[in-house]
Amino acid sequence: MIKNRTSKVHILLGQNRLDGLLFLHRPNLRFLCGFSGTEGALLIGQDETVFLADSRYIAQAQREVTADRIDEYRIQLQGIVNQVRAAGWRRIGFEAGTIPYALVERLREEGGSELEWQPLSNELRTLRCLKDATEIKAMERAAQLAAEAFDEILPMIRPGAVERDISLALEFAMKRRGAEEKSFDFIVASGERGALPHGVASQKQINSGELVTIDFGARWEGYHSDETVTLAVGAVDPELRKIYDIVLDAHDQAIAQVRPGVPLSQIDGIARDHITAHGYGEFFGHGLGHGVGLEVHEFPPVSSRSQEVAGEDMVITIEPGIYIPGLGGVRIEDMVLVTAGGCRRLTRLDKEFRLLPG
Ligand code: ZN
Ligand code: ZN
Repeated sequence: MIKNRTSKVHILLGQNRLDGLLFLHRPNLRFLCGFSGTEGALLIGQDETVFLADSRYIAQAQREVTADRIDEYRIQLQGIVNQVRAAGWRRIGFEAGTIPYALVERLREEGGSELEWQPLSNELRTLRCLKDATEIKAMERAAQLAAEAFDEILPMIRPGAVERDISLALEFAMKRRGAEEKSFDFIVASGERGALPHGVASQKQINSGELVTIDFGARWEGYHSDETVTLAVGAVDPELRKIYDIVLDAHDQAIAQVRPGVPLSQIDGIARDHITAHGYGEFFGHGLGHGVGLEVHEFPPVSSRSQEVAGEDMVITIEPGIYIPGLGGVRIEDMVLVTAGGCRRLTRLDKEFRLLPG
C-alpha cells in the first residue's frame, strides 16, 4: 500500500526534475510512510526513502514507519541537510503549501548555495485525492463510530438542553467507542444560531420550536468523517420546514449526479441552481463540499470554482445549506465515495426530516 503511494512521489520527481522530495506535513508523513507522531521528516528519492526523527520518536518510527532507513537527528534542519548531502542531491522539492516560510529560509541558509530548494504546491495537491481500500475502510469506520455516538445522545436533544453539553456528550460517546479524536470542534447551532454556518456549540439552550444543526465527525486511524444533520425540536416555523425540504432535495440531486468524469463545479451547480430556483440562492454562501481524508478539509474543493472532475475513489462531502439571519438555518451533509458507476454514501445517518419531541 505504502509502495503504491511513494511511487506517485517518484513520478513527481521525474516530472519536476528533482533529486528528492522533503515531506514535513503530518498528514503526508502518515500517508507516505505510516508515521503518526507529531514531528519527523521524510526524504523520498528515486532510490531511497529515509525517515528522520529526534530521539522522542525513534522507537515509534521503528514500529510504524515503512522506509528504507530510519535515522535520528538532534536538530531537524541539520539532519535534513546532512541526509540530502550524503545522498548527493542537488535539487530538492518541498511542500510549499504548508511549510513555514522561516523554515524554508533556514533550509536555504543551512544548505548553502549548492542545494536548490524547489517549492511544490499544486503538484502535491492531488497526492492523497484518490483513496485506497485501507483508507476507505478507516473512513467508513470513523463514520460508523460517529453515527453510533449520535444515536446514543439523540435523546438529549430536547428543550432546555445546552448546545455545548450535546457537543461534549457526542465527543465522549465517540471516544468511548474507540474514536481517536473528534474530527473538529463540533457545530451545534440551534434556533437563530443555525444561521451561522460555523456556529460552534455555545452555552445556548435549545428551545421548543427550533431547528438544531449538528455538524460532527470522528477520527479513526488518522482518517476523518464529516456529517451534518438538522433536526426539529418540536414543530417549527413553516418557512424552516420548507427550507429543510429544499436543502434535502438539493443534497439528493447533487449526490445523484456524482460519478467519475463529472466536473465538481457542475455538482455544486446542481445543488445551487435548485436552491436559487426556490429563491434562496443568496442564503447559500459556501461551496457545496470538499475532499476528506487524513485532513477533514482537503483537496479537492467542490464549488463553482472547482477545476477538477470527480474521480473514482475520491471521497468528497455534499453539504448544501440555507442560512437566514434572524430565523435560522439548515445544512445537510454526507460524505460520499465516488465509485465506478456513481457514488456510495460513507456517512450513516438518515437525512429525512426528523421531528423530535418538543
Ligand atoms: Zn461537516
Ligand atoms: Zn464538511
